[in-house]
Amino acid sequence: MLKAENLSYSYDDGTQALKNVNLEVKKGEIVALLGKNGAGKSTLFLHFNGILKPTKGRILIEGEELKYDKKNLVKFRQKIGIVFQNPDDQLFAPTVEEDVAFGPLNLGLEMDEVQDRVEDALKKVGMDGFEKKAPHHLSGGQKKRVAIAGILAMKPDIMVLDEPTSGLDPKGASDILKLLYELNGEGMTIIISTHDVDLVPIYSSKIYVISSGEIIKSGTPKEVFFDVDLIRSANLRLPRVAHLFEILEKRDGFNFNGEYPLTISQARRLINGN
Ligand code: ADP
Repeated sequence: MLKAENLSYSYDDGTQALKNVNLEVKKGEIVALLGKNGAGKSTLFLHFNGILKPTKGRILIEGEELKYDKKNLVKFRQKIGIVFQNPDDQLFAPTVEEDVAFGPLNLGLEMDEVQDRVEDALKKVGMDGFEKKAPHHLSGGQKKRVAIAGILAMKPDIMVLDEPTSGLDPKGASDILKLLYELNGEGMTIIISTHDVDLVPIYSSKIYVISSGEIIKSGTPKEVFFDVDLIRSANLRLPRVAHLFEILEKRDGFNFNGEYPLTISQARRLINGN
């Protein structure tokens, strides 16, 4: 559905932020791009809606190459919605409902349709009842929800979220991922960037690990975290549950064949022997 082919990008000051990146997202997946700060996650995401144009390589959506003229970009941006890392970069209208209505209004939709979409989107993210509130009076998690509603109201095929859990407390972070999981259950294809290794295995079907602008590993959470040395070389760590089992194996003589559970439910199954 969305593909990056041999993508390289250098900023004007010469920083090579992406090196020959290949990535594919299929319909209905939740894909996580995992990397430490400065690895190139935001730079890659800015290519996903054509804000940045690759120095080399190309972006394909449904097999069609992205072109950078205005008409093509408008068409492309209706298919792919980006939720930026900082909701304050996204929310600017005086009220929540005006903010969520902004995108659909720009699409030239009828007022009735816009109202339906705003109502629907706010309900989906659990922010109905906040219509008249000023976005800058909301908490971090609520702002993220409204930013997500604003993108949902555009009805994109794919939602791209740059660090959706950053700046949130643990409950807020897990709630946002739960919401994304629900949206995915309703058919939305989702790409997130994160360095939260504890939450990623619970929610994503596929992971790409990025380090210094290069994709150094991809696969299911199990495949990726099995390569413990690579994870650490990318300045990431194992999920806490997996780390606990690693310690039990290396220091306490248990034997899990290096296959550590990544989530609490996987640990429970391993302990129960099924
Ligand atoms: P991440 O999102 O993983 O934290 P970024 O994509 O923001 O990483 O950054 C990747 C690299 O590109 C870093 O080395 C960063 O310093 C550099 N970079 C990001 N934005 C710019 C810019 N506007 N100009 C020059 N270098 C940049």
